[in-house]
Amino acid sequence: MTEKCGVVGIAFEDRNAARPLYYGLYALQHRGQESAGIVTHDGFQQHSHVEMGLVGDVFDEDDLESLNGSTGIGHVRYPTAGSVDSCCAQPFSVSFKSGSLGLSHNGNLVNAEEIRDELAGLGHAFTSDGDTEVIAHDLARNLLNEDLIRAVKRTMKRIHGSYSLTIMHDETVMGVRDPQGNRPLCIGELDNGYIIASESAAIDTLDGELVRDVRPGELVVLSEDGSGFDSYQLVEGESTAHCFFEHVYFARPDSRIDGKLVYEARRNLGRKLWEENGVETDVVMPVPDSGRAFASGYADAADETTATGEPRAEDDTGVEFAEGLMKNRYVGRTFIMPTQDERERAVRLKLNPITSTVEGKTVTLIDDSIVRGTTSTQLVSLLKDCGAAEVHLRIGAPPIVAPCYMGIDMATREELIASDKTIPEIEDVIGADSLAYLSPESVAEALGALRSDLCMGCVTGEYPYDIEGEPTDREVTRPAIGGQTIQADD
Ligand code: 5GP
Ligand code: MG
Repeated sequence: MTEKCGVVGIAFEDRNAARPLYYGLYALQHRGQESAGIVTHDGFQQHSHVEMGLVGDVFDEDDLESLNGSTGIGHVRYPTAGSVDSCCAQPFSVSFKSGSLGLSHNGNLVNAEEIRDELAGLGHAFTSDGDTEVIAHDLARNLLNEDLIRAVKRTMKRIHGSYSLTIMHDETVMGVRDPQGNRPLCIGELDNGYIIASESAAIDTLDGELVRDVRPGELVVLSEDGSGFDSYQLVEGESTAHCFFEHVYFARPDSRIDGKLVYEARRNLGRKLWEENGVETDVVMPVPDSGRAFASGYADAADETTATGEPRAEDDTGVEFAEGLMKNRYVGRTFIMPTQDERERAVRLKLNPITSTVEGKTVTLIDDSIVRGTTSTQLVSLLKDCGAAEVHLRIGAPPIVAPCYMGIDMATREELIASDKTIPEIEDVIGADSLAYLSPESVAEALGALRSDLCMGCVTGEYPYDIEGEPTDREVTRPAIGGQTIQADD
């Protein structure tokens, strides 16, 4: 099971956490539209409200009133294709001998089944087939014999894969990021409190200050009085495996992830696209909204140099940037449509050409990625029907050739258009006059990262984790567990 989700955790000195958690989840809604939930603790007991649906539909005034307590965690869950599964809505909560636990998870473990079997053998009863419950049970078990920090460390030693977690043990809120930092997680300071969230946009929404990213392998424990946080570097990784796709598609452009503003990262990717594969056309237009930042960077670079890399002459007006597709905001993400026919219909529902940009023109259409090829195929034929003379397609990521095991529900190999086709073959299927992508190396360069610090499993087919039946791109996949618990100076 793969899940691409949003997590948040808040601790205040003396005000209820429910409403800020609710706003925080609103800011993370793009990370998951299937279910939403909040669990709070009032010093005596947990309060929980978790339902299927969008944040705005899941909570009403009464729900927020009943979620008492100055600490809490929240979750939005991403829909997996075709399966609407209420058992996996989060936060997951359990009460056990040494207290209560709440857990919100973004990511995907690659050894969940193995741990589940072991814990089931020890008498643990599981209510879902999700891996979050596996983490909760493992942690609950460790908490019977050990303090919180040691228990979390032991669990981190056991679980392998990608996880950004917000955890609540009784009224204590914590954040944990896997040793390779696959999914984002950051810390923010609020008025009289602190927040841990998937993306900094959630902190901005609450008028808070981004403090920093949670480090790979780090546990952050928020003080119950909202006055600060303690940091414990529990695991030292060899290198990171940040998901490059967070920067390309998934995160909000206004978020800052691992030190980079996502919007600028996307503009850089767009610039690179021009530098490597620019084509002179009458107009450059984005696929809204995911292609916008890329197209803006691409058009900027195109104003400076020609497609062959020469500086533009004084009288050369360069490339026109314009909107050529109008997006209907009220249509949900097409990805979740279960059949191909519905997906095609949905693209047409969602996007309509703006004739003045397109008619009689040679156009360059820019998007972040091609998954199944549905969107690009439909759009090229739509633009041609609308009178475009030529349609050139430029993509701000490499071809997606393999599945994601790290929490993005992308598609199976058979569904991925690039898994068994060359670029000219894809160009043919899509009907574009030309098609170009970025290479993995160019993506790393545009992100200002080392290739070896990124997870690029979906574009290389080699993963930074041990996955059964798949090759790895690492020498060491299981990071060393530090013998000492380090009390950091933060
Ligand atoms: P395709 O139509 O090729 O299957 O999908 C490509 C489109 O889906 C692109 O416009 C891209 O922005 C978007 N996309 C890429 N990855 C994902 C994803 O993981 N989830 C969703 N909902 N859309 C995606
Ligand atoms: Mg898109």
